[in-house]
Amino acid sequence: MTGIRIPSTGHDGIAWPALPSPADAALLALMYQFERSEWWSPETLLAAQLGQLEGLLAHAARTVPFYRERLQAAVEPGAGRLTLKTWRQLPILGRQDIQEAGAALTSSDIPPAHGSARDVSTSGSTGRPITVKTTEITRLFNRAINLRYHLWHDRDFSATTAIIRIPDGNAARAAAGKDTGWAYVYPSGPTLFFDVTKPVSEQLAWLERQNPDYLVTYPSNLAALLRLSRETGVRPAGLREAITLSEVLDPAVRAACRRVWDVPVTDSYSAQECGMIALQCPEHPHYHVQGESVLVEVLGSDDAPCGPGETGRVVVTNLHDFATPLIRYEIGDYAEVGEACSCGRGLAVLNRILGRVRNMAILPSGETFWPRFYSDDLAKVAPVRQAQLVQRSVHDIDVRLVVARPLTAEEEERLNSVILEYLGHPFTLGFTYMDEIPRSAGGKYEDFVSLVEQ
Ligand SMILES: [Zn+2]
Repeated sequence: MTGIRIPSTGHDGIAWPALPSPADAALLALMYQFERSEWWSPETLLAAQLGQLEGLLAHAARTVPFYRERLQAAVEPGAGRLTLKTWRQLPILGRQDIQEAGAALTSSDIPPAHGSARDVSTSGSTGRPITVKTTEITRLFNRAINLRYHLWHDRDFSATTAIIRIPDGNAARAAAGKDTGWAYVYPSGPTLFFDVTKPVSEQLAWLERQNPDYLVTYPSNLAALLRLSRETGVRPAGLREAITLSEVLDPAVRAACRRVWDVPVTDSYSAQECGMIALQCPEHPHYHVQGESVLVEVLGSDDAPCGPGETGRVVVTNLHDFATPLIRYEIGDYAEVGEACSCGRGLAVLNRILGRVRNMAILPSGETFWPRFYSDDLAKVAPVRQAQLVQRSVHDIDVRLVVARPLTAEEEERLNSVILEYLGHPFTLGFTYMDEIPRSAGGKYEDFVSLVEQ
């Protein structure tokens, strides 16, 4: 624990431990609260969320120009306590609304108690980036959820974590020998960084050499590492857990990680503009919404809330963002709602995160579906290293491939039928061979992208 050391004249080697810093003390207080609230019933949690949202709506209507009229009905005197029914009548905020509103979405009176505001931008993998402000409070909640993630998954704080991703400020600080730990409050083992844009063979050799306990990377990159590891036998022998982020995690990658390295994969769901949204349950592969920090709604095509087993659009509200309140923000992802979890936590369950609308395939009838496609299965019929499907029209799909050697006509034919079987529709496939299929600027990789307007 880092912090203020009070002068101590301990006898016989016995002295008080150092006091936590004010920031760590606030974090520990929030953790104490989290350890209780995660067991609340959904009704208790909702009541607490609505109470917080009342304050957020009043603040937004008063100090954020964009919301002045938009929220009037919900906050006018005599509106009474906020109910879920009233909440659901508030307009949904789209990405384009945020871009068009610009500075009109920023509060003119951020409460001083929320601390300094800082700009955060999305990576721009989905077109024009959006910029919002975070405060000390929203950052505190994110740190607490991060710490909860480690505690839920029983991580060993003395362990070494290797992170393979697009280099960011943390990598630069670590390279300069600063902030090398990976946990808040607790002293932790070192964090090692490697650039995900380097060849997979270099990444794997580095992992074998460093032999970390935990690996943090994107699901697509983990899949590529596992593929190469299976082929070459090169592996991080002491690895205990793979932790994925940023992209949709296909259940096939979990299975491959178990098979090739015999370690579990743990996943979380977050977004730059609203922070941590959901963490994998300690006991199941599904996700718990971080209800102390965000209200998540999953809405069907008629904007009605989805029930367990149904898939809809994810709409997120950060309960504590008083700098750039995003109220009922449609983030662009789809998710499937789950049943209450048998672990006993009252936090809402998402079974799966399904990605964005452009990751859906569209049929000539206009019907859309989520394609099940995993490039490892293509490797069973041909030496495919990387694959991506790009839908150009309702009839045509480009198959982009990175291959170990040129394919024979027979192999191409077999790939054609395997892919059509996955898609369940007789699309016309065109094969394109590439040296590498690049990631987006934010580091994301998509197995399936549709360029058809939906
Ligand atoms: Zn659970």
